[in-house]
Amino acid sequence: MKFETKAIHCGQAPDESTGAIITPIYQTSTYVQTAIGKNKGYEYSRVGNPTRTALEENITALEEGKYGFAFASGMAAMNTVMNLLKLGAHIVVSNNLYGGTYRLFTEVYVNYGLTFDFVDALNPDNIAKAINKKTKLIWLETPTNPLLKILDIKKIAGIAKSNNCLLVVDNTFATPYLQQPLKLGADIVVHSTTKYLGGHSDIIGGAIVIKDKDCYNKLAFYQKTVGGVPGPFDCWLVLRGIKTLALRMDRHNENALVIARYLEKHSKVEKVYYPGLPSHPQYELAKKQMSGFGGIVSFELKSDIETTKKFVSLTKYFSLAGSLGGVESLIEHPASMSHASIPKEKRLEVGLTDKLIRLSVGIENVEDLLEGLEQAMSKISCKK
Ligand SMILES: *Cc1c(COP(=O)(O)O)cnc(C)c1O
Repeated sequence: MKFETKAIHCGQAPDESTGAIITPIYQTSTYVQTAIGKNKGYEYSRVGNPTRTALEENITALEEGKYGFAFASGMAAMNTVMNLLKLGAHIVVSNNLYGGTYRLFTEVYVNYGLTFDFVDALNPDNIAKAINKKTKLIWLETPTNPLLKILDIKKIAGIAKSNNCLLVVDNTFATPYLQQPLKLGADIVVHSTTKYLGGHSDIIGGAIVIKDKDCYNKLAFYQKTVGGVPGPFDCWLVLRGIKTLALRMDRHNENALVIARYLEKHSKVEKVYYPGLPSHPQYELAKKQMSGFGGIVSFELKSDIETTKKFVSLTKYFSLAGSLGGVESLIEHPASMSHASIPKEKRLEVGLTDKLIRLSVGIENVEDLLEGLEQAMSKISCKK
């Protein structure tokens, strides 16, 4: 079965009791037992819920994994992966990371006896060098947020394997439509389904997909024990969003490329970050590893920080807001919004300056989006 078909059918056979074509929202906390321990596979909705099962099976199929878990947020999913680790474990992390994940590691898990090394994973040797006897996990995001660097999943998976570490890839930006990390050798894929999978900026959610049975047993235990599970209605909304994921991603890709090209040629723009531009340093790797370049474009203006901060509230159609991956276009200032929890010197080390602007290019008509950007450009003055 091909991707678009899986997105609509996997985990979503018509309801047996009524014939409903769409998976019902099983808004129930518990399930009747005919005798103690005798039930139809569900006992209590923290442990399992049929609407959630449909979503878990669906995302698992899209990532070509074996087992999947849905969570109440991307961070709840990532936190549950961290539950796999024990006191003293060491984790090697790509240094260009979503601010919330950075905060989870450096402000929560350091207090639980875990140690972290943040490295420039563009060169996989830096990961190999950081690994020691206690290293259990390697954590990546690619394309990275918000600088859109492309990391070589296959090479890094090889390093993980030869050092007996698990490789975790946050696949939120690419989605399984554009990139399938498990097929490239990753062990665990994590998602914020809040973004492209949900796709309509109306829920918060997360997911984990894996291949290994032993890992499944552990994560199933942590999911029910720690309990960061989503409600059935949120699961249903993500399922509904996923049905159009392929169509939406095609349009996100198309629009983002047009906008990246427009920005690259613009006299008031200093620098554009988009893996679909041949000028991007990992353009070849992006072409090999992904089947499209995604909907996020970052750039810097030829201007000062004040003008940059003014610009993000001037763009018609691009609303100033955190988050990304919805049908509507958004604009934000990472240094003071999505990545504000990363100390300034750490941000600058990876190239995330106070001048960076991030666009989440939506699926509106691209002519309108260009007009919205051009109007804002005409209102600011930049050094030539
Ligand atoms: C948004 C995001 C998260 C966090 O997910 P939430 O759903 O907001 O909890 C993690 N990783 C990436 C790459 C994200 O964009």
